[in-house]
Amino acid sequence: MYICIYVYISNLKSDICAAELSQAGWSVLVIEKGNYYHESELTSHVPTEYKNIYLQGGSFANCKGDINVFEGSTFGSATVISFLDSLKFSDNLDKVYKRIGATTEGIKHIIPNRILIDGCNRKSHEYDWCLTGCKDGIKNGTSTSWLRTAAQNGAHLVGQAKFNRAIIVDGNATGVEFRINNSDQIIRLNSFRTVISAGSLRTQEVLFKSGLKDKSIGQNLRFHPLMVAYGFFDNSQTNPFEGSIMIAISGSIENLYGEYYRSKLVVLHHTTDIFIFGTSWQGQKEHKEAILKFRQSSSVPALVRDKDSKENVGYKKDDKISISYEISKIVLRNNSYCRMGVSPDTSATKPTGDTWETRNLYVCNASLFATTSGVNPIVTTEPIALHVADSIIQTANLN
Ligand SMILES: Cc1cc2nc3c(=O)[nH]c(=O)nc-3n(C[C@H](O)[C@H](O)[C@H](O)COP(=O)(O)OP(=O)(O)OC[C@H]3O[C@@H](n4cnc5c(N)ncnc54)[C@H](O)[C@@H]3O)c2cc1C
Repeated sequence: MYICIYVYISNLKSDICAAELSQAGWSVLVIEKGNYYHESELTSHVPTEYKNIYLQGGSFANCKGDINVFEGSTFGSATVISFLDSLKFSDNLDKVYKRIGATTEGIKHIIPNRILIDGCNRKSHEYDWCLTGCKDGIKNGTSTSWLRTAAQNGAHLVGQAKFNRAIIVDGNATGVEFRINNSDQIIRLNSFRTVISAGSLRTQEVLFKSGLKDKSIGQNLRFHPLMVAYGFFDNSQTNPFEGSIMIAISGSIENLYGEYYRSKLVVLHHTTDIFIFGTSWQGQKEHKEAILKFRQSSSVPALVRDKDSKENVGYKKDDKISISYEISKIVLRNNSYCRMGVSPDTSATKPTGDTWETRNLYVCNASLFATTSGVNPIVTTEPIALHVADSIIQTANLN
């Protein structure tokens, strides 16, 4: 019996790979650093869930302190905490849309959304407090969709397990090494195919620890910077923490200079903590007055398509990461750190997701993007994951 190790099930793609391969009859093991939470265990208590399901306990700043990064760390990962905004730009996304139940049914607009829609005359479920996970189970992150398919088909899932490295012998990935619950005991297993899917910030770390030296790995990190403008209504309660999340969008200025590198405008569904750290400091009294008007506030984030930024990610001994990141003048989510492409000179993996450098070692997450998508990346990431899973199955059949 072969063991196919899926590293980091949490993220979209390993869940999807796990679902596809287990359905094809493969034996699958998913290793995830974070914990598994059933939706009934999610509390909506912001400090608790930041600690449980976010990387480094919530947001963390880059070295200069001018950007904050959010990253999930749980089975389902960022799809548990995300808005799951899913912009359909191609009919080829039907399989993903069907599986995650993406729909325009049941939408409840709060006042700022209606204002954006009326104002732009464009169009773009009820989720409350979804940034800390959806306790009603309405939002189909990968842990409540693909991962359940994988489990139903016999995939094994190991939580609180840190993947150290892929074991590589003569240029061939033959096994995996990981530790559970920070124990000193190292577990090594043979694997037929190894899929690394540790998110855009961690995948390159694991590849380097596995001994890969390809210079394309760790290049081209791209974020999805969100710059948020806040305003207040004098007489209306907008209650920005209620209603459906991120459902109105305007592309009116995204192609201002002809390259689609300008901003999409959305309305941010937000909680007090995001509002407090997003409100600029104008003085003690002014800050207090602004915070007291939270229920009358409205935010319009500009979702920017990152270009020409300069970045470097450092990995500390205590497992934390530090990011130095200078946003391009043209201008947070992250992609492109192990991008796929047709040449080993410019990419880290082949178009099929396997690394140029090592056989039977695949990458499967947003770090495969050629460059940043400029749109919410989940429904781009999921078809890429389906494609990588399909490639694994096809090549195994050929061999
Ligand atoms: C607040 C927020 C809102 C968002 N909203 C949207 C949205 O509305 N629409 C949209 O399309 N996208 C959205 N996104 C982006 C989207 O969720 C991410 O782009 C996507 O989840 C990235 O997937 P990934 O597979 O690359 O990695 P991730 O989802 O980051 O998964 C990486 C996983 O690997 C695990 N891991 C890392 N290292 C190890 C290790 N050594 N051993 C074991 N496990 C490890 C981590 O614990 C984590 O669970 C949002 C993101 C955030 C943070």
